[in-house]
Amino acid sequence: MKNCPLISAAGVLVLIILVIIGQWQISMDRGDTAVVVMHHPDDVMGTNCALAAVVAHHKTNRAKDALDRAEEVLRRIESQMSSWRDDSEVARFRDAEAGSEIRVSPDTLAVMYAARTAFERTGQAFDVTCRPQLELWRQADQLDQEPTAAQLSEARLASSWAGIHLTATGIVKHEPRTSLDLGGIAKGYAIDLALQSLRQAELPGGLVDVGGDLACFGTQPGGQPWLVDVKDPDLPGSFARLQIVDRAVATSGDYARQIEIAGKRYSHIIDPRTGLPADAARSATVVASTAVIADIWATALSVLGPDGFDRLPEGVEALIISAGEHGRRFICTPGFRDLLTAPMPEDWECRSDGRTQVADNRTEESSSQEQYP
Ligand code: AMP
Ligand code: MG
Repeated sequence: MKNCPLISAAGVLVLIILVIIGQWQISMDRGDTAVVVMHHPDDVMGTNCALAAVVAHHKTNRAKDALDRAEEVLRRIESQMSSWRDDSEVARFRDAEAGSEIRVSPDTLAVMYAARTAFERTGQAFDVTCRPQLELWRQADQLDQEPTAAQLSEARLASSWAGIHLTATGIVKHEPRTSLDLGGIAKGYAIDLALQSLRQAELPGGLVDVGGDLACFGTQPGGQPWLVDVKDPDLPGSFARLQIVDRAVATSGDYARQIEIAGKRYSHIIDPRTGLPADAARSATVVASTAVIADIWATALSVLGPDGFDRLPEGVEALIISAGEHGRRFICTPGFRDLLTAPMPEDWECRSDGRTQVADNRTEESSSQEQYP
C-alpha cells in the first residue's frame, strides 16, 4: 500500500485528490486490482498537467498508451490555437490580409463557433476578438503606464466579431486589425478531447488536469468519485472539496497572471464591454458537463460577477469569490452547494439564480460544428 498522491503540483488552482484514505491499490469486484496510472507531461499550454487513468493492474501498458495519446491531443491543440506561437493557426489569422479566407483545422473552427455563441450568451463578456485590448494592457504593463482613452477606444474598435466571418472550412477576415485570443477557451476544448481519447481506451476511469482546469469520467479505484479541492485565491491551501462524476471544473481569477501598473494590480481578463481589466471577481469556479463550457463560463463570470448567474445555462454551476469593502464574499449557485462534500460554510451566500432555459438559437450554418457553451 502506498500513500495517496496529489495529482496537481503546488501552485495550480485546483488540486485533485486521487484517493481519500491513502490507498493506492484497491481490489475490484472481479478480484482484480485497480491502479491509477499517472502521467505528468512537462509544460503543456504553459502550465502544469496531470493525466490519470484507472486500470486493472495487469493492463498498465494499455493505460500508458492511452495517456500518451491524450498528451498528443493536448499538444496538437496547443500548436493550433496558441497565441504565443508564431506557427499556430491563430498567428496565421493575425498575420493574414483582410478579405481572404484562412483555412483552419476542424478543431479551431469548432472552438470559433463555440466562442461566437458564447459571445452572445454571456452578453458579450466572453469575446475571443478582444486581443487588441489584451495587447494594449500588456503593453501598458511593460511601459508601467495606463492606456489613454484614445488607445482604449481604438483597441475596442479593433475588437469585434464584425471583422470575422466563419465558413465551413475557415475564417474570413474582413478587417486587417482583427485578431484572436483563444486563451479563455482552448484549454477547456483540449481537455475535453484528451478525455475523449482516454475514454476510447475503455478504462473504468480517467482524468485530465491542465493548470487546475480538469475533466473526469468514471471513478477512482474502488468506485469512489473523483474529489476536487478548490484552491483559495488568497490563502495557502484549499477551502472547498467537490465530488465530481463525469463533469469538468474550471477556475479563472484576477490573481493569476496579473498586470501591474504604477503599483496597482489588474486582472489579465478584459471586460470587452468597457475595455478595462475585469474586477467583478477574485475568482470564479465553474462545474459543467464539459471543460469547454466550464472554461468559457469561468472567464465570463470573472467579468460579470454574480450577476452573471442569471445567464448560466442549465446544468452549469458556479462559485464566485469577490473582494469588497467588507471583506471577501463567497456566492454560489444551489447546484454548486450540492456538489460540496461538507455542509456549505455559514458565511457563504447561496443565490437562487433566476436563470431560464436558454433558447437554442443556433443557425443551420453553425449547428453541425458548434459545441454548445
Ligand atoms: P481563463 O484563465 O480561462 O480565464 O482565460 C484567460 C485568458 O483568456 C486571458 O489570458 C486571455 O488570453 C483571454 N481573455 C481575457 N479576457 C477575455 C474575455 N473577456 N473573453 C475571452 N477571452 C479572454
Ligand atoms: Mg476560461
